[in-house]
Amino acid sequence: MQILDELVAAGRRLDERGWVPATSGNLSARDADGVWITSSGHHKGRLDHGHFLRLDADGRPPAGTRPSAETALHLGLYRREPDIGAVLHTHSVNATVLSRVYPEGVPFEDHEIAKAFPGVDTHASAHRIPVWPNDQDVDRLWRAIAPHDLPLPGFLIGGHGLYAWGTTVDDALRHVEAFEHLFACIVLEHRLRSTP
Ligand SMILES: [Zn+2]
Repeated sequence: MQILDELVAAGRRLDERGWVPATSGNLSARDADGVWITSSGHHKGRLDHGHFLRLDADGRPPAGTRPSAETALHLGLYRREPDIGAVLHTHSVNATVLSRVYPEGVPFEDHEIAKAFPGVDTHASAHRIPVWPNDQDVDRLWRAIAPHDLPLPGFLIGGHGLYAWGTTVDDALRHVEAFEHLFACIVLEHRLRSTP
């Protein structure tokens, strides 16, 4: 299935960049029949079609299977935004560190890469990537996020990682790369400016 081939390739790409260490992260995509999501506990750089579950229209996994622990966040995004076709969740070092340094949200402005995000057509703009406190109760975490506008195609969870999405797997991957470019720039800029 092409959609699973795309998710397998995305997992390899995220692993090559070091953004899904250990078995962290989870990947999903939606097609006409429901949502495909990684089952729990697999390394994202070594996925095959057997590592994905299809959730039915009510978000239920097949009997006897165990989807990723954070399935509720994926489903919340799909239900809320009909245009979302894929959601990618990563645990990069820079995303994790910045979410701790900026618990009120990661601000950035005057970055050309912002134009990778929908609705942004100039570097001359200021944005804030939202950060929500981590919570092992993922349903409760989604209830905290759901009432808020999400002007950028991604958010951070404190001390945890990035959620990013797009209309397709490629689109979501492009957004992850844009966020990670920003994170790397912000971290490096901090380091250089604080070095005498
Ligand atoms: Zn996670």
